[in-house]
Amino acid sequence: MKITRRLHRRPDPRALYVISLGCPKNRVDTECMLGELHAAGYYLTDALTEAGCVLINTCGFLGAAVQEAYGEIEEVVRAKRRAGFRLVVTGCLVERLGEQLRQDFPEIDALLGVRTYADIRAAMDGARHETPAELTAAGDARYYLRRTPTTGPAWTYLRVADGCENRCTYCTIPDIRGAFRSRPLEDLLEEARAFAARGVKELNLIAQDTTRYGDDLYGRRSLDRLLDALNAVAGVRWIRLLYTHPAHYDDALIAAMTRNEKVVPYLDIPLQHIADPLLRAMHRRVTKAETVALLETLRERLPGLVLRTTFIVGFPGETEAMFQELLDFIEAFRFERVGAFAYSREPGTPAADLPDQVPDAVKRERVDRLMRRQQRIALEQHRARQHRRLEVLVEGPTDAAPRRGYPYAGRSYADAPDIDGQVFLRTPDQTPLQPGQFVTARIEHGYAYDLCGVVDASA
Ligand code: SF4
Repeated sequence: MKITRRLHRRPDPRALYVISLGCPKNRVDTECMLGELHAAGYYLTDALTEAGCVLINTCGFLGAAVQEAYGEIEEVVRAKRRAGFRLVVTGCLVERLGEQLRQDFPEIDALLGVRTYADIRAAMDGARHETPAELTAAGDARYYLRRTPTTGPAWTYLRVADGCENRCTYCTIPDIRGAFRSRPLEDLLEEARAFAARGVKELNLIAQDTTRYGDDLYGRRSLDRLLDALNAVAGVRWIRLLYTHPAHYDDALIAAMTRNEKVVPYLDIPLQHIADPLLRAMHRRVTKAETVALLETLRERLPGLVLRTTFIVGFPGETEAMFQELLDFIEAFRFERVGAFAYSREPGTPAADLPDQVPDAVKRERVDRLMRRQQRIALEQHRARQHRRLEVLVEGPTDAAPRRGYPYAGRSYADAPDIDGQVFLRTPDQTPLQPGQFVTARIEHGYAYDLCGVVDASA
């Protein structure tokens, strides 16, 4: 994702070009750094040729992300050789491969790992004008309150914690991001109120493991208390939970989801696999039986629940029979949203040293098979929605609809921003729709990922 906005075109050392890579958690870091830089007089430009400085916030979680970041840095370094702007590279890749980056790209002026973002102004200024007192420390409530949103006006992410200690055996995040650290509930509430005052209607709660929220700060998992508090924030209509861990659900959390009407019946629960030998080898801390029991409880207690999950295909030791078990599970549970990724052998992780690594061609073939299966399920589910009415949060005009005549994009509670599909809208009388507006739409067409509907003016 490239974040650009045209403010004005005069070349200036403070004209900032930003490339933000990776996941929503990284995007919040980018937004916080942008807030710091805006406070220091920097402004965004949409043209690399006009930039006085460039920030690349990288992801380094998987080999593919490392390759993507290297590609972006190479391109910017080539431009820097001609234009001579200042280049600061931040993020997970710096944490993971900082010394290598320094050697590969001597043109980079400053590197900041994930624990040193508070130094972004000094790094960008070249420490010419900086005094430490002017900096806001990362993690400080003011650091988040200053954040410059890069999402649409209707929604934002609320990062409730950073870091992870779950130590899934394939994952580099605990080494990159460090121990799990929750943000104080009062700070999150203040941030939510500030966004609501700006017109934000939807909060998407994120962390490496949102379900563990509060464990470190309050001595017990406290996402239930946080949901109670956020539910009372005036102006917010939807609260969505992303990145939950199946081992960390409890009755208190499920009860909080049911009693707080703004918490939408949508859950993102990355399950990674269902075969017990693989769940053990991944160190996922849940069994198949516990997973099935959890999903049944959630479906029963949260009417209209939409489930998103992700699976890792081709983990070491995955046999054809285990993969078939996964396909059968997907068929039985009919998840509304599924992502599948080929296992990536990451140096330094315990899984990289496991025997019985699966050949790449087999992994790719299994990912394709799984996604074909899921597309059929998703298409059937979306077709079944035709003629039904849905509440949709309008995001704005679009030309990306799968058929002509639907000039607006929005999302229902069933669609998380940036990752799920959209609901494309038309109005019967050409009435313009505004971002942040809620409308009721009657669904006319269903596709595997998206829906098209007409706004119901009588609703
Ligand atoms: S829960 Fe597992 S996969 Fe997710 S960030 Fe933590 S260690 Fe990685």
